[in-house]
Amino acid sequence: MSKLRFLVAVVSLVLTGCSTSHVKTTYADQPLVPLKEPAKASVETEHVTEGPTIAPPPDAAPEAFHLPTNRLVNAWIPLRKWSDDHNAGPIQRITNGTVPTFALRAPNGLLIIRAYDQVAYWNGMEFHLGFAPQVLNGQPQLHSLDFTKNIEPLMHSLALPERTNRLIVIDPGHGGSNLGTKSVVDGSYEKQFALDWARRLAPILETNGWKVLLTRTSDVDISLTNRVSFADSNKATLFVSLHFNAAPSPADHEEAGIETFCVTPTGMPSTLKRDWEDDPTLVFPNNRFDAENLEYAMQVQHSLLKISGAKDHGVRRARFMTVIRGQTCPAILVEGGYLSNPREARRIADPSYRQKLAEAVAKALIEPPTTQAADVAKTEDGK
Ligand SMILES: [Zn+2]
Repeated sequence: MSKLRFLVAVVSLVLTGCSTSHVKTTYADQPLVPLKEPAKASVETEHVTEGPTIAPPPDAAPEAFHLPTNRLVNAWIPLRKWSDDHNAGPIQRITNGTVPTFALRAPNGLLIIRAYDQVAYWNGMEFHLGFAPQVLNGQPQLHSLDFTKNIEPLMHSLALPERTNRLIVIDPGHGGSNLGTKSVVDGSYEKQFALDWARRLAPILETNGWKVLLTRTSDVDISLTNRVSFADSNKATLFVSLHFNAAPSPADHEEAGIETFCVTPTGMPSTLKRDWEDDPTLVFPNNRFDAENLEYAMQVQHSLLKISGAKDHGVRRARFMTVIRGQTCPAILVEGGYLSNPREARRIADPSYRQKLAEAVAKALIEPPTTQAADVAKTEDGK
């Protein structure tokens, strides 16, 4: 546990493609069906750590446009002034030295930021600021976009869609010739685990007020843009893409943990750029939902960490993910663990663990927000 993570835990404790199938079957106890490896290589991937560059979406998908650069506000605002203006709560300097750390006790949570570091913590959970906080005259300053796109959404509780309008499209990543990453334990592919996860999640949500559609219910190829248009044409009110991860280097078996992505707000740099040009002036259709995206991402990530005990890899931002940036409803992409890590891959190979992952995502979407500092502190140490 890093010194900062320990500190966050202590402070937290103190502060207290397109199938139209409508899945109805219970899937809890069904084993994974082994799939044969097709000869063809994967041609399209949303996976964050491997695969070729994803081309910009074709004309069929909702198109992005460029915001004139003079419309982008570039201002640093003292945290104290913002907090006073928003009645957010007192600010405390919790470490000194060359890299001071600050805590803001808001009514609904605890924000921890560190000077010159984009990684910040909300109720003990890692998220990524667009810009590293600066310090002027001993006072922390945050970028105006971080206030509007990160801090302010966190200060609000997640509002689920109206009960009569809860339609989720669950997107099991990859499929068909697009294998995704491969488990180091049993050679199973990400596409199998992602489909299994989705099929476990669907019935739980259905019995709790959500209408559920899956982009695929079998091992088939579906283009990324079709996954977007499927959700759009069905007027989804939430889109959740499910994936598993792999370390960028095959030799790195240590990397582990769960992370959740949403699209990068216009004007901000992304947390993960991969080899895609990360143009901050781009406005994607999904940017209309910047606040909701973050709220869903934090809520789902929190629930996954609490139930799985997995390491927190944070809520992150990316522009290259076609399946989320083109969505016309709130959208997130979850990486449910590393198939390149033998210990995590063994857990993911266990059906009861995948059931837990499904229950965790469902819990985040059927209950009022439950992000409690003390809850999260317990998972701070990973396993
Ligand atoms: Zn993937």
